[in-house]
Amino acid sequence: MSPSSGRPGSLTTRLLASQIAVSLAMALTMIVVAAIVGPPLFEAHMHEAGHGSPDVLAHSEEAFRAAGLLALGIGLAIAATGAIVVSVVTSRRLRRSLTDLGAAAARISDGDYDLRVTEADSRELATLADSFNTMAGRLAGVEATRRQLLTDLAHEVRTPLASMEICVESLEDGAIEPGPEAWRILDSQIDRISRLADDLAQVSAAEEGRLDVHQQACDPDRLAEDAVRAARDGFEHKGVALQLRRSPAAGLVANADPERIGQVLANLLSNALRHTPAGGHVEVAVRGDADAVVFRVSDDGDGIAAEHLPRIFERFYRVDAARDRAHGGTGVGLAISRAIVRAHGGQLDAASAGPGHGSTFELRLPNDG
Ligand code: ADP
Repeated sequence: MSPSSGRPGSLTTRLLASQIAVSLAMALTMIVVAAIVGPPLFEAHMHEAGHGSPDVLAHSEEAFRAAGLLALGIGLAIAATGAIVVSVVTSRRLRRSLTDLGAAAARISDGDYDLRVTEADSRELATLADSFNTMAGRLAGVEATRRQLLTDLAHEVRTPLASMEICVESLEDGAIEPGPEAWRILDSQIDRISRLADDLAQVSAAEEGRLDVHQQACDPDRLAEDAVRAARDGFEHKGVALQLRRSPAAGLVANADPERIGQVLANLLSNALRHTPAGGHVEVAVRGDADAVVFRVSDDGDGIAAEHLPRIFERFYRVDAARDRAHGGTGVGLAISRAIVRAHGGQLDAASAGPGHGSTFELRLPNDG
């Protein structure tokens, strides 16, 4: 039916119409067959039985026709009643399930994402209800993430703003002098807000797939060397040993955007440095396996408890929020890194034997060799 022909007819009418059409077709076939095949067959049997007189034949034929018509009439009446009963009952049950689903969809569109459909009359409707519930579950998840994101964002912005407010009030009250110390405080908080804005812009671009990734054939050892060289000063300053273990196999090629993967390695190294005490060790190892080039950044520092491991890649998730924030982290570094790696068709995962036992981050990129 074309969309311009208006609303389709009711389910009951359609079911009834189709059943009556089937019954009529059946009756018509029976009448035609009985009219063409019946009389000659009947006559032949009467002759064979020795009842050849025209009078007997005419009576018998009349009786045969009347009985046939009566049987057909009663049959048709029963079929029509059956069709009406079946159509009404079936369509009522179907309509009830579909109306329930429609009402549930309307409530979900009004924001009631916890609603689930439990009743279904047939296997097909049960499948539809299952898909519906899965969709509702996903929407609930997206909504929860959106709410959490807004709450986290408000919290992240409020912290530096509160510090700035205190600083400005202290300046007004004369509690602190306008001078280098006050400018330093204001400067660092402004810096924090703009870093947060930059990180957020990056993480949304990365997660929505709007990130420019220019993949090319790269030497993974070179990528690791560049990252280690850039991080070296910070490690020396803190007194943490930084070691690079190049790939044992020659000729390994990664399909990567060197700048973006450099950014990921820099993030992993700065996290490792932040979470490893002086005297600790951090290692960057490169190797290849059947289908991937693997970079492994491991440290023997703080480690991560099992319950935090799956969450550290979420935006704003920090294991020790106060301490990590004090160190200047915005909590989105790993979210950006994972999104960048996924944009390459790769994987970024973390492992740790627990608090105090160090952490290992594994970055897998498609092998181009
Ligand atoms: P941040 O900017 O706060 O470092 P990230 O997204 O980079 O945010 O990291 C999220 C959290 O994961 C960190 O706050 C920290 O608690 C934990 N983490 C990351 N790397 C390490 C590591 N090498 N050792 C221990 N904890 C880590």
